[in-house]
Amino acid sequence: MSKPKIVVLGAGYAGMMTTKRLMQKLGPDEAEIVLVNKHNYHYQTTWLHEVAAGTRNQNQARMMISDVINPNRVSLIYDEVVEVKKDENRVVLKNSEVSYDYLVISLGFETNTFGIKGMEKNAFSITDIESSRMIREHIEYQFAKYSTSDKKNENDLTILVGGGGFTGIEFVGELAEQVPKLCKKYDIDRSKARIVNVEAAPRILPGFNDDLVAYAKKSLEDRGVEIREGAKISECKKNSFVIGDDGEEIKAGTIVWTGGVTGNSILGKSGFEITKGKVTVESDLRAPGEENIFIIGDCAWVMNQEEGRPFPPTAQAAMQHADTCATNLKGLIRNEQLESFTFDDKGTVASLGKNDAMGTVFSERLLYGTPATAMKKVIDNRYLFLLGGPKLILKKGKLRML
Ligand code: FAD
Ligand code: NAD
Repeated sequence: MSKPKIVVLGAGYAGMMTTKRLMQKLGPDEAEIVLVNKHNYHYQTTWLHEVAAGTRNQNQARMMISDVINPNRVSLIYDEVVEVKKDENRVVLKNSEVSYDYLVISLGFETNTFGIKGMEKNAFSITDIESSRMIREHIEYQFAKYSTSDKKNENDLTILVGGGGFTGIEFVGELAEQVPKLCKKYDIDRSKARIVNVEAAPRILPGFNDDLVAYAKKSLEDRGVEIREGAKISECKKNSFVIGDDGEEIKAGTIVWTGGVTGNSILGKSGFEITKGKVTVESDLRAPGEENIFIIGDCAWVMNQEEGRPFPPTAQAAMQHADTCATNLKGLIRNEQLESFTFDDKGTVASLGKNDAMGTVFSERLLYGTPATAMKKVIDNRYLFLLGGPKLILKKGKLRML
């Protein structure tokens, strides 16, 4: 009898960990495993703000997939997913197609601009290695251009970041490290370069612990970041944001939108029922009405039954989805009972640059400064450990703890 074929789409946090767990949970004779990804490398999305700011080289934030997933055990296909033909159990790729018995959709997020006029066209976004590298190059070009130009325009040195959620705040924290270095490199007075974060809600990091938000704000402002709260962006022009009720315009040479994310648009194209860009999955992480399709990571809304709303999309959750998804695939293949997903919230820690961070760990314990910085690195290295053991930490990890 032929082996069932499991196809995993997307090699991000959810797809990599699902594949890893399937290799551990199933014998080679029990299933054929296929992993499809756009690139031959896996990147840590959670490090992309560092790549975008220029504080981390892109090669430190990515690894060859075949270095951590054994290609003798898992068939690796490097191609772009175009559509899932769920009624025919096959996936259309840009250059070929692949059939499946079981499918895992873990294609991650796309930027959500909420239809804000001009945002898609005029702002950069931090979505993958290429888009992050573009931001870094663009910022550096603005500084180089300013230093060599006869008609200097100080607006070129302003970096405007739309959205003060965790991505926006972590990004401006890195910029606070990088901008002084760029000023030094291009002989520019630091006071001429601005980093501005614009948040619609009354305060940055809406919904997060008040003391930690106050700490983050002070840390960033002390290092020259301007924070504009209660300032809703209504339009993004070529070189500016229009904000607030009075239509104030803030000009800049670099504009980055970090104001929201949604699920991969392949879901809608493939005929899944979509709520705000994602599929609300069953408690076993399968798509509603689909016996053989799991949707996990940032493509899925997983309901927090206690609070009556979905859990936020995080790498922490994506990795936990992967565990349940692999267990349930094993269950389907071995005719065992499937389990329901339960989220184990280990807290949230955000970096504010190289030497500062803040967050919550272990049942709301608050961390600031050096302990938080060390904890953030432990979290980053833990993922590398789960994926590739100590060898991968030595190769790609954040080894200087402070
Ligand atoms: P991803 O990790 O985004 O992976 C999706 C994969 O699918 C990618 O490899 C992509 O190349 C591939 N792909 C996409 N489309 C196609 C296609 N059409 N064909 C083939 N392949 C495709 N969460 C935390 O818990 N902690 C943090 O500190 C944290 N920091 C973050 C910092 C930043 C800057 C950002 C943007 C997010 C951060 N998050 C953090 C959120 C976290 O990164 C996401 O929740 C997580 O990456 C989701 O995992 P995923 O596997 O669903 O998607
Ligand atoms: P987000 O949706 O969490 O934050 C977007 C922010 O943009 C919000 O504060 C929102 O009020 C603001 N915004 C939206 N429209 C606006 C407008 N018109 N004008 C001004 N501001 C506007 O998105 P994110 O920060 O990219 O985070 C995505 C997910 O990734 C979240 O679940 C987050 O928790 C996770 N994440 C976690 C970490 C971490 O744990 N360290 C880091 C980054 C991201």
